[in-house]
Amino acid sequence: MTRLCVLGPSGRMGRAVIEAAKGLTITGAVDRGDADGLGREVAPGVRATTDIGTALDACDVYIDFTTPASTRGAAIAATPRRRAAVIGTTGLSAGDDEAIAALTQVAPVVVAANYSVGVNLLLGLVKQAARALPDWDAEVVETHHKMKRDAPSGTALAIARSIAAGRGADYDAVKRHTRDGDIGPRPAGEIGVSTVRGGDVVGEHVAYFFGAAERIEIAHRATSRAIFAAGAVRAAAWVVGKPPGRYDMLDVLGFTP
Ligand code: NAD
Repeated sequence: MTRLCVLGPSGRMGRAVIEAAKGLTITGAVDRGDADGLGREVAPGVRATTDIGTALDACDVYIDFTTPASTRGAAIAATPRRRAAVIGTTGLSAGDDEAIAALTQVAPVVVAANYSVGVNLLLGLVKQAARALPDWDAEVVETHHKMKRDAPSGTALAIARSIAAGRGADYDAVKRHTRDGDIGPRPAGEIGVSTVRGGDVVGEHVAYFFGAAERIEIAHRATSRAIFAAGAVRAAAWVVGKPPGRYDMLDVLGFTP
């Protein structure tokens, strides 16, 4: 049975992963020094610690939904151990991505901004729509709970990048993440991303395509973190034994957008 280490076991997603990990054996759990759940038993005989080296030595794969700094540190610790990984943390910097890239040289790693089946299908749908409607104005609106730290959400960025890919556009050249003041007419080809924060919203994303006198809306609404946790656990079972490299959830699901 696949041996799993869970990072951030006291976090919202860490708790959901532990709940979802029925088919795997949890052999380790690593949290930060001041986390509420440190020392808590997360599985029979397994307590949350800060000792990432020992926890990585004892597992086949780790699941990481924590913070960018923690994700970077874990990737650095996992590289000499050639440990497989499933990474869900969002808001990663170029430096964090570099640490993950080093790990992908020696181990198989799944990285996805969203582990739900529905959002991964949606990535394909928006790409198709963007390809078919090159002149329509594309906008993405994301809504999340008030504790979320990064903006726009990693999922909104993945959706916006899929729209750009469908049009053969360079996303960085056409993106618009904020609007304020006298912004003038909307440039053709721009892809807008807007952020809404409040309450306990698990995650909502709507891709709009505005034509003349008509519009299409492609939406996904998550009502439970269990969908992300189930996807991450599925990815962990899938990734062990794969050749070193970077994979995404489309690879795990076998979808071709
Ligand atoms: P959270 O704040 O509830 O939990 C974060 C956890 O990380 C906490 O337990 C914290 O103690 C732990 N942590 C911080 N530093 C650490 C360290 N150095 N070592 C070990 N653990 C450490 O956050 P959350 O809502 O669970 O979200 C976590 C991340 O997952 C965010 O980046 C969020 O955007 C992302 N997320 C991704 C998906 C997806 O499908 N990819 C879905 C939901 C959330």
